[in-house]
Amino acid sequence: MNILENFLSADEEQEIVSAIHMAEKNTSGEIRVHIEKNTDEPIDVRAKHVFHALKMDNTKLENGVLIYIAIENKKFGIYGDKGIHKIVTHSFWDNTRDVMQEHFEAGAFKTGIIEGIKNASEALKKHFPWDVNDRDELSNEISKGKV
Ligand code: CA
Ligand code: CA
Repeated sequence: MNILENFLSADEEQEIVSAIHMAEKNTSGEIRVHIEKNTDEPIDVRAKHVFHALKMDNTKLENGVLIYIAIENKKFGIYGDKGIHKIVTHSFWDNTRDVMQEHFEAGAFKTGIIEGIKNASEALKKHFPWDVNDRDELSNEISKGKV
């Protein structure tokens, strides 16, 4: 069984991509989801590495956000770029993390990811509102595997 491909169904993946699309109508922040089988690194360190490997630092306002999931480790991390850290406190993502954790513990991964995306976009829009010149700077597709 391919744990990476079976984590979410094709339909679930599409729902998540749609949720990112909708979330990015609230904010100029760019949200991505990356799923990996496992990692040997501490989850937050790995999330940061993946963030840079995906070139997510390539946004004008430095406001990319990565939701990173390591399936076998049963862990996830949220990593936001410098532009976000400049203006918010460390607890900025706590609420998003808690919402996701609750769904993940119930085995509802798709719902957890979607609720996390919604929550993150609500948090982001206060500081990074959407504007008419907004572009989709980073792909909304889910990425997978080692990067
Ligand atoms: Ca955008
Ligand atoms: Ca995007």
